[in-house]
Amino acid sequence: MALSDMPRVSLAQLPTPLEPLARLSAHLGGPTIYVKRDDQTGLAMGGNKARKLEFLVGAALAQGCDTLVTTGGPQSNHARQTAAAAARMGMACELLLPRLVDGRQAEYESSGNVLLDRLLGAKVHILPRESFHSETFDSALAQLRDAGRKPYFIPIGGSTGLGALGYLLAVEELLQQSRDAGFAPTAIVVGTGSGGTHAGIVAGMIRAGHAARIQGISVSGKQAEREALVARLASEALELAGQGTVNAHQVTDRVSVLDQYVGAAYGQPTEGMIEAVQLVARLEGILLDPVYTGKAMAGLIDLVRRGEFTNRDTVIFWHTGGSAALFAYPELF
Ligand SMILES: *Cc1c(COP(=O)(O)O)cnc(C)c1O
Repeated sequence: MALSDMPRVSLAQLPTPLEPLARLSAHLGGPTIYVKRDDQTGLAMGGNKARKLEFLVGAALAQGCDTLVTTGGPQSNHARQTAAAAARMGMACELLLPRLVDGRQAEYESSGNVLLDRLLGAKVHILPRESFHSETFDSALAQLRDAGRKPYFIPIGGSTGLGALGYLLAVEELLQQSRDAGFAPTAIVVGTGSGGTHAGIVAGMIRAGHAARIQGISVSGKQAEREALVARLASEALELAGQGTVNAHQVTDRVSVLDQYVGAAYGQPTEGMIEAVQLVARLEGILLDPVYTGKAMAGLIDLVRRGEFTNRDTVIFWHTGGSAALFAYPELF
């Protein structure tokens, strides 16, 4: 099926702005840095999941489903945007949220994204960490079917080849904006979690024949395992976009993930993250988040300080949203 014929619903406010971070660039004394404002996609406080959900919810409706079911940690931004998408489409939403982050305070399960999930009308199920596996999801889906519902399951982060198509197309949007502004990016920096965003960017850049470095910064998981995941999702997205002739090496050559900015674990704060969130707030008036973009920006700042990006580079920092989670980490800032 041609990309333009794939079932898709309009959920995101597009194009999102592409803005220079002049004060951050000057402060770091390195490359010219732009930010791609996917924190401004709309859909209940923005974020990268809106672009993926356009295709995922499109598929759900095309299959006659009436309920969106997904999973993530209690402060999942993906769960919050899925709840908003369900509300907008008149669907029900069930969120299966295992306690994937240890040692948090009470706010972690009542504020930020959890508060918004409930406000948006989703049924929130906070579960023990051990329940994060496919049997939990299968039995929830079976129960919903028994109750006469038609559930559509969206894997964690909406990271499937189909979801990644949202980012394959976002690359077209970005490259058009940078051409209009009269520059060519030499690098893109993005947080890598469940991998679909990074994968879609890789697929889109290959499809566009654009050679810029694409640097993923892991927020969970080790380099080799995340790179394999991103490469697989990028290949799936290319296949769906009718670019199935791109071979596996062409994809793996473009996939690079750094894992030294994760800290102790997914969702656990790091000093670099706190510095990055404060710096960007105070220099640019832009809110990052403690779980994803704060760590991704900590990676970018460190790479600039190490001289990996110089004043000859023009770097796009892909802001993927997440600031609702700031309210679940009140003690940090
Ligand atoms: C989900 C998420 C990411 C990571 O995107 P993946 O596609 O899961 O890798 C980055 N930033 C924010 C704010 C997110 O919510």
